[in-house]
Amino acid sequence: MNDLHHHYIAGEWVGGVEMSKNINPSDVSDVIGEYAHADRAQAETAIAAARNAFPAWAASSVQDRANLLDAVGNALLVRKDELGRLLAREEGKTLPEGVGEVVRAGQIFKFFGGEALRLAGEKIPSVRPGIDVEVTREPLGVVSIITPWNFPIAIPAWKIAPALCYGNCVVFKPADLVPGSAWALSEIIVKAGIPSGVFNLVMGRGSVVGDALVTDRRVDGISFTGSVATGHALAAKAIARMAKLQLEMGGKNPLVILDDADLPTAVNCAVNGAYFSTGQRCTASSRLIVGAGIHDRFVTAITERVGKLKVDDALAAGTDIGPVVDENQLKQDLDYIGVGQREGASLAWGGEVLQREKKGHYLAPALLTEATNAMRSSREEIFGPVASVIRVKDYDEALAVANDTDFGLSAGIVTTSLRHASHFKRASQAGMVMVNLPTAGVDYHVPFGGRKGSSYGPREQGRYAREFFTVVKTAYTLP
Ligand code: ADP
Repeated sequence: MNDLHHHYIAGEWVGGVEMSKNINPSDVSDVIGEYAHADRAQAETAIAAARNAFPAWAASSVQDRANLLDAVGNALLVRKDELGRLLAREEGKTLPEGVGEVVRAGQIFKFFGGEALRLAGEKIPSVRPGIDVEVTREPLGVVSIITPWNFPIAIPAWKIAPALCYGNCVVFKPADLVPGSAWALSEIIVKAGIPSGVFNLVMGRGSVVGDALVTDRRVDGISFTGSVATGHALAAKAIARMAKLQLEMGGKNPLVILDDADLPTAVNCAVNGAYFSTGQRCTASSRLIVGAGIHDRFVTAITERVGKLKVDDALAAGTDIGPVVDENQLKQDLDYIGVGQREGASLAWGGEVLQREKKGHYLAPALLTEATNAMRSSREEIFGPVASVIRVKDYDEALAVANDTDFGLSAGIVTTSLRHASHFKRASQAGMVMVNLPTAGVDYHVPFGGRKGSSYGPREQGRYAREFFTVVKTAYTLP
């Protein structure tokens, strides 16, 4: 079934300058569909359409925006099984994970449907008698939304929903590798009755479409999630013209396991955080920092557990871990497993390419032990089912190692000590801290984001999303 999927620009479905195949990583003979690729001119047409639509959308009724976002949310929830299957088929996470992601996207749209009605300002007494001061929020303008492949519907949802909620017009470029879920979401937004030009979908390469979305002066802000290298390159171009920026760029997230931890909780948190969704989450636990007193018991228990995980077709019943997203990512994972071993770590489990009934990018989840925090495999983001165990002597060393990283997205601790848990929450240099929970897996209605090299600009999600998608105005009146 080679359905043709077009861009949505200025209220019309339009073909691209070329078409690109969307391939199932569980079965590379399965072509999910063909998706349009745009050139720079098409991206610029979409930006122009968004610019033209902006004044009317910025002035639109908040009730209309609320109704539209709520309708999109409902449509996603009604179609969760079908869209979850499409997502698992194109990205490789398991079917339950795919359905869960679609549900999350639906909930996000419904949340921002409500938020459209709750955008209040402030009236503040002036220091000068007789004058009124009002602080209000206005839409940012035209926003470019550039998303990665690892959450093909949730990340677009958590950027597009607040953008539209607060009165912005959108030009959306999904990742080249997974346009299917993004296209389905776009169709839902169109069918919900979005006015022409307010929302535009332009698919294609980052270097072509993405670059136009970043450098065009008619774009007021860019919300990007992706790799560190792309984020840095894009930021330099955006800052050169003073565009507003929001970047999420990954992590090297620590999970600290103290000697007093409950062992089953530690194993659950580590397995979930390191390997679920094939480790392809920016919040994945890639550094397992383990106290010397529990180290051997933990390594034995996690190895036994990882050995039982079923790596197979993302759509097959009972699969725990689907394939790696594509050949390039598989190569990167294997390269880093080799790097870790050459630097002195031991491969305690997995790390080999697996053959399954259908040809896909299957990798046995890898556990490196006897790792140090100085190894490249402990410092650079791998973005696959690969975790390193780093042994530490006590809590103080664990905390120091956890914070000794260029990243700061998420950090976890498994402990039964209230004192250590409380201290870790305060002293961790991460944007999100988890106690007795995996580093990955967050709520949809609270802020998401990190520190240091992980993030730049205001937080995403929940009410904090308005910091990026609105601008503040302070008005003074002498009645
Ligand atoms: P990942 O491979 O993890 O998705 P990337 O940073 O390569 O991370 O890609 C994230 C998003 O950024 C994708 O939609 C990609 O097409 C886009 N992108 C890549 N290069 C550029 C660029 N030079 N300018 C703008 N966007 C880009």
